[in-house]
Amino acid sequence: MNSRVRRRHGPGRERHYDRVVAVRVGVFGGTFDPIHTGHIVAASSARHALGLAEVLVIPAGDPWQKSGAVHACAADRLALAAAAIEGIDGLRLCSLEVERAGPTYTADTLEALAEPERELVLILGADAVRGLGSWSRADEIKHRAVIAVVHREGDSEALPPGPGWRCERVEIPRLDISSTDVRTRLARGEPVDGLMPPAAIHVVRERRLYTAPR
Ligand code: NAP
Repeated sequence: MNSRVRRRHGPGRERHYDRVVAVRVGVFGGTFDPIHTGHIVAASSARHALGLAEVLVIPAGDPWQKSGAVHACAADRLALAAAAIEGIDGLRLCSLEVERAGPTYTADTLEALAEPERELVLILGADAVRGLGSWSRADEIKHRAVIAVVHREGDSEALPPGPGWRCERVEIPRLDISSTDVRTRLARGEPVDGLMPPAAIHVVRERRLYTAPR
């Protein structure tokens, strides 16, 4: 990204030079089954705390480690995420993983998003960080991205698996919301206002999602 560097040349005069600097882009992937307010707070807080130009919100197409345990199809989870982040500054939907066939591997996503002068910052909760060692091509992820651990008050320390990871930490407010809890409430016909953005609730109702207990 080009950023303008201003230099003063005499009183009241400025000259501008173009300089190329790395732009930091957040990568926030999830099963998002469904996306909820906790996810939004994590993405938005990471963007602010780490000075990210934007955060790409990326629903997983086929989250292979949750095989058989995903409730809504990829197209529905994508529509929910689109509605949830609509109008939130700096969050942008990315449909790359839904469009890609086969199991979703974060290493493929980081490879596809790599650009010169772009630093990718992979935003992960503590549990996801603990699982990193079991991910496909974890060594490649290590070299392609900085890890941003979103730390909720009361979380125990989460460290990446082994040396060589570039790691940053972001403190976020603890919102005890989980996709499991949201699904359970919806199946019971209970309200989820405040747990999900209103536009995402609208998509849930319109598509009749999460109506059955599973
Ligand atoms: P998820 O359940 O939808 O969660 C998405 C992220 O949101 C996680 O980092 C999670 O942190 C965080 N989160 C959940 N509830 C939160 C709350 N109340 N407040 C703040 N943050 C909250 O998605 P997931 O199934 O864990 O998958 C996460 C990513 O890992 C996806 O992009 C998936 O594709 C990727 N993954 C990749 C591989 C691979 O081989 N490449 C394997 C497994 C997963 P916690 O983890 O702390 O809940």
